Amino acid sequence: MQTLPVLPMPAAILSFDFDGTLHDPASDPAVPVEFFELIRELRLRHRVLWGINTGRSLGHLQEGFVESKFPFLPDWVVAREREIYLADRSGGWLPHAPWNRQCELEVHGLFQRAAKLLARIRQEVEEHTGAKWMEWHGEPAGVIAQTEEEMAWIVERVTPMAAAEPHLSWQRNSIWLRFGHRDFHKGSSLSEVARIHRLPAGCCFAMGDSHNDLDMLDPAHAGMTACPANAVEEIRAKVAGGGGLITTAVHGHGVIEALRHYFHKDRA
Ligand SMILES: [Mg+2]
Repeated sequence: MQTLPVLPMPAAILSFDFDGTLHDPASDPAVPVEFFELIRELRLRHRVLWGINTGRSLGHLQEGFVESKFPFLPDWVVAREREIYLADRSGGWLPHAPWNRQCELEVHGLFQRAAKLLARIRQEVEEHTGAKWMEWHGEPAGVIAQTEEEMAWIVERVTPMAAAEPHLSWQRNSIWLRFGHRDFHKGSSLSEVARIHRLPAGCCFAMGDSHNDLDMLDPAHAGMTACPANAVEEIRAKVAGGGGLITTAVHGHGVIEALRHYFHKDRA
């Protein structure tokens, strides 16, 4: 699988969340075929670069591409909400090294500084909920709750505790939460991709459905924003507040609706 032909001078960057936005496991195919047809057309008419901005790891996302029958690869991906990879000509992925190294360094330093605080947060979570604390290589702290309600309780409880370390933040997606650095998220990663191509936030389109998409749906990172009809309430409020589009369709069909809204304005 390869990307579409290289664009010498892109004019816009498209950033799509994967699970719940582009991808719906209950549909077959999970990503609508029309989406890829539209991307081909927008590539020619509007010189767009497109990428997937996800909480998945790169490996897990690649499985998603195969399983969803992607006919071609995106130009870039953001994995685990903060690592940037750029597609090479042969279908492989090159880490965007300056950003990824800096991110790793900052995150590592933060987790060292915040070790005691995270231990207190862990204790609080384990004492009061049935949620599972996760620690594995490259992912020093995460939580999996049993329900969305339990996760909402955890976030409310953790917020004042985490304020003790100003760089500590987290990304929440449904029942999952990943602790991280406040400067590295889907939004700042999208802006870094745009910076590589010398494009301002106004030329960036972002679309997502869940809490971990809040940052990239901020006008600081994307001038064109949208969420599908199935998005969580906080995302709908964020998009509406920024003058973005809440589509009437769900998942991938909502994505098609949003792209037509922003890029087919010139048509009768
Ligand atoms: Mg999502």
